[in-house]
Amino acid sequence: MDDHSRLAEPQAIRLRHAWDADHELMLRQAAEIAMDFRRSLNERFQRPERSFVEMRQSFAAPLPEQGMDGFAVIEELAALAEPGLATMTGPRFFGWVMGASHPVGVAADWLTSAWGQNCGNHAATPAAAACEEAAANWLLELLQLPGESSVGFATGATLANLICLAAARGELLRRVGWDVEANGLFGAPRIRVLIGEEAHATVFSGLQLLGLGHDRVIPVPTDPMGGMKLGDFEAAMKRGNEPAIVITQAGHINTGAFDPIGDIAEIARRGNAWVHVDGAFGLWARACPETAPLAAGMDKADSWATDGHKWLQLPYDCGFAIVRNSEAHRRAMAITASYLPAVAADERNPAHYVPELSRRARGFAAWAMIRAFGRQGIAQLVAHHCRIARRMARVLSEEAGICVLNDVLLNQVVVRFGDDDLLTKHVIARIQKDGICFAAGAEWKGQWIMRLSVTSWATSEEDADHSVAAIIGAWRQVQAEAA
Ligand SMILES: *Cc1c(COP(=O)(O)O)cnc(C)c1O
Repeated sequence: MDDHSRLAEPQAIRLRHAWDADHELMLRQAAEIAMDFRRSLNERFQRPERSFVEMRQSFAAPLPEQGMDGFAVIEELAALAEPGLATMTGPRFFGWVMGASHPVGVAADWLTSAWGQNCGNHAATPAAAACEEAAANWLLELLQLPGESSVGFATGATLANLICLAAARGELLRRVGWDVEANGLFGAPRIRVLIGEEAHATVFSGLQLLGLGHDRVIPVPTDPMGGMKLGDFEAAMKRGNEPAIVITQAGHINTGAFDPIGDIAEIARRGNAWVHVDGAFGLWARACPETAPLAAGMDKADSWATDGHKWLQLPYDCGFAIVRNSEAHRRAMAITASYLPAVAADERNPAHYVPELSRRARGFAAWAMIRAFGRQGIAQLVAHHCRIARRMARVLSEEAGICVLNDVLLNQVVVRFGDDDLLTKHVIARIQKDGICFAAGAEWKGQWIMRLSVTSWATSEEDADHSVAAIIGAWRQVQAEAA
């Protein structure tokens, strides 16, 4: 038996030890494929052409024994995946609150992957750490949050919420003499968690992971738009004197509503409390003079979570965990090990503000996107989306049987058809089948609704008008079928 044949390199993939022309060809090919996809989005059906079941069949294959040339792998991946891709970056995608990964962010992201910097440590990668720090400073200025705050670059708002809540938990317990980072929660003094009844589901996952439990919260009643009722909050605060984490929301996922965060923070300050803001998209209202009044007083809070991949149009994944008390932030997150270079007191290490040590350098794309828009560009984008949302709401509500259920103050529109769950579901199904625009449904206050989120940089007024006409057309068709 010939032992050498087993050790020999597989035929299809030669183990290459240097950069060569084939690598360049493959990377260029990937860029071409990506650009073809993005170019096609305006004309495409605004939904995946194939279902999950079909896509599963496409990808079902035994583990390959032999390798394959990289160029062919990329072509195969693209051919298999494309029919099941959603048009999330398309101009008429209104399903869920998501951004649309702007080409500048994508390009910076390509560089980030190619540069391959492990962004844990500033000594190892000075460029990534410095760029992230610069982006963090810009972000605080854009969102008009306290300059002393620290910023962690996380995967998204889910993790950003968790990070902020970890800092809150640690700081509140430290104030009553308990070191939760060292000693954990067993035997710790109790802390309360007050939260609006219509908080986002992901906040509860944070509570669950932090040992605070998603069911032991004190829910605070909300008004018809989903904002916390101040009187009820004040009463709930007075009902106990244990330290309290107060979780507020800037931007309800259906209505776009804000909790009265400035007033909440005033009341909370009188107790031993930490006010956190889940502002995944709503925090960006502060970056636009027209919408800033909605988000006034929010700078009185202690921590803020927001997304980069929503209103800032960054590619996934990017979220920001912003904490006023940077010591508490660091205590909750910092990892220390002897092999990691030490950090001077005035130096910022990216890994100190997120749970991960090794991660991609998210600061490059964040820096590039803020640089590309500028303060004015971001303000214009937010204003543009809010204007489009109002326009869509106005035209929709002029049609008999269509009701817009929310005050459209931000970028969200809640629509119901014929005041009926089934009819509303039928219109949503019809719209998704037609593929002119994409919208999805939700159950809100016991009723089915269609949600429209205007958050794509690519959405024009014509796209909005085209989409509204399609929605009205779908509604008329559903009525005709029901008659
Ligand atoms: C989107 C969103 C989240 C979750 O953010 P991810 O980026 O999906 O992790 C949390 N809260 C609100 C209000 C949101 O809109």
